[in-house]
Amino acid sequence: MRDIKALMRPSAAALEPYDPRFTPVAINLSANENTYGMPSSVRDSALRALADVQINRYPQPLAPGLRAEIAARYGADPAQIIVGNGGDELIFNLFLAFGGEGATVIDCPPTFSIYRLYAELCECTVIDVPRHPQTFAVDEPALLAHAAQARITVVTTPNNPTGTLAPLSFIEELCDAAAGLVLVDEAYMEFAGAPSATTLLGRCPNLVVLRTLSKAFALAGARIGYVLADPAVIDALAAVRQPYSVNAFSQAVAEAVLSESACFSATVSKICEERDRLAAELAQLDGLTVWPSAANFLLVRVPQAHRVWERLRDGCSILVRDLSQACGLEDCLRITVGTPNENAAVTAALADILANDPEGE
Ligand code: PMP
Repeated sequence: MRDIKALMRPSAAALEPYDPRFTPVAINLSANENTYGMPSSVRDSALRALADVQINRYPQPLAPGLRAEIAARYGADPAQIIVGNGGDELIFNLFLAFGGEGATVIDCPPTFSIYRLYAELCECTVIDVPRHPQTFAVDEPALLAHAAQARITVVTTPNNPTGTLAPLSFIEELCDAAAGLVLVDEAYMEFAGAPSATTLLGRCPNLVVLRTLSKAFALAGARIGYVLADPAVIDALAAVRQPYSVNAFSQAVAEAVLSESACFSATVSKICEERDRLAAELAQLDGLTVWPSAANFLLVRVPQAHRVWERLRDGCSILVRDLSQACGLEDCLRITVGTPNENAAVTAALADILANDPEGE
């Protein structure tokens, strides 16, 4: 019997695979999806668009229709845009095109774990510039100093899982200070009501802005993300991509959804309202700390978080994200903001668990 692991690329053999830890439950508030789904008029348009897809043909590699639709939203040139199979593919392709042995990537934990995972798989050296342990703000002076030596610096705003925004003025300063590219991940920006780094694209050629349709636009299942950047960066991402990674159904649905994107503003406002209401209600619970969030989720700290997470799942059929093992997030859980009923259910369940012994004994 061969030792298969010994045959693997060392960076892949060392990998701890990403695990969303999904289990079937009645209420899933674990993955920061839009639990409201699409407005029904948009859903009808999306279904009509699907019916017209020629499934016997390969999809258009660079999704020109969708690219044009995205360009129009930002007043950008289609040459500044590339679409991916979710934002995840574009993060991977960025490290593939610009990383490799000898390349340094700056990460700001606690943050989305995929950056480190993919950077290491692409043989980059990852240097952590940790966020402030209480506020989770980025350490601006340390980040400016490290970025001056790095190939890629990653800043997530609002940050997953902390909900923290990075000021736009700082992003601009960072792009000026950085030796290499600055990836600004704005996967949750629609919920922030803050200015996007896309406004800096004209003057920062090393800026790479990532967005996704998985969150505000309720399309997590279709896997559509996009990057806005200088055309030279887009060309590099296009060179390393798998030609047909964005399938024809997803392109068609995404085009239909974006052409009616205004229909999502009521849901996004509702989610933000619910976020603020849920945060206020959770803050009333004894022993629970909740951080302010500019995204569609809340980070909370509770005593014996892992046990509380299990009791929510097993006793209440509610799934949230257990982050209690992550560095800097001891006893933390992340709760996606859901519909009013889902939020009421998670609040009541937590109140009950915390009022009783979290050990459940
Ligand atoms: N960036 C951040 C910060 C995220 O939280 C996520 C999704 N969890 C993504 C990017 C990728 O999203 P998707 O691949 O669904 O577009």
